[in-house]
Amino acid sequence: MKVSSIVARYALPVHKTYFADKAMEGFPTYLTICDTSRLFLPALGEGNDARFAEIFRQTWQRIPLRCRRRMVKHWRDADPIHLQGLWSPTVQLVNDWRLSDRVCRTARDMGVCGRIGHSLYFYAPIVDAMPPNIVQDLIAHELAHCYLYAIGDEETMAGSDRTVHRWLDNVEIYADEAMEVWGFSADSIDEWEKDNKWVWDSDPLTS
Ligand SMILES: [Zn+2]
Repeated sequence: MKVSSIVARYALPVHKTYFADKAMEGFPTYLTICDTSRLFLPALGEGNDARFAEIFRQTWQRIPLRCRRRMVKHWRDADPIHLQGLWSPTVQLVNDWRLSDRVCRTARDMGVCGRIGHSLYFYAPIVDAMPPNIVQDLIAHELAHCYLYAIGDEETMAGSDRTVHRWLDNVEIYADEAMEVWGFSADSIDEWEKDNKWVWDSDPLTS
C-alpha cells in the first residue's frame, strides 16, 4: 500500500459528508424516525433516505420496549468523546462504505455500529437493493450491537475480532442472538447476498 493511501485511510476520522460540498451548503434535512428516541436520518441523498427512514421506524417499533429504553438511555448518557454529531445516535445511509467511521476495517460491511453504539452506518446501494424485510434484519442487527453496548456486554465492550470469520466472533454471535430474540432473522441477509450474487465494488485504497 502506498504511503499516501495509508494517510488517506487514517486521516478520515469522520464521514466525508462533513466535508462534502453539500455539507458546506448548510445542514441536511433530517427525516424523523422516532423523535422521542432522538432517531433522525439526515437526507444525504446518497440512497433512498425516505424509504430507509420508514423501514428503520418499523424496525424500531418491533424491538421490545425495555430494550429500546436501554438503548435510548445509553445514547442520552453518551460521553461527548463518542458523539459524532450534536446528539447520539448518528444514523447515516451512505454510498461509500470505505469512508465510514471505522476506517481500519478489512471486511466490507453493509452496516456498521461504531463509537460504542453511538454511530450507525448503512451502505445505501445494498440497502436500496434489498427488500424491506431484509433491511429490517440488517437494521436490527446493528441495533443489537447498540443494545449490547448499552447493557455493558463484556465481549462487545472488548471489541470485535476481525481476524476470525464473523461466525466465530462472539460480538457478532451475541448480536445475532439478540436480534433473533427480538423476532428478526439473523440468516436472511447472508442468504439474500448469496441469492442475489451481490458484487462489491473495488477498493481504490487497497487495489
Ligand atoms: Zn455485526
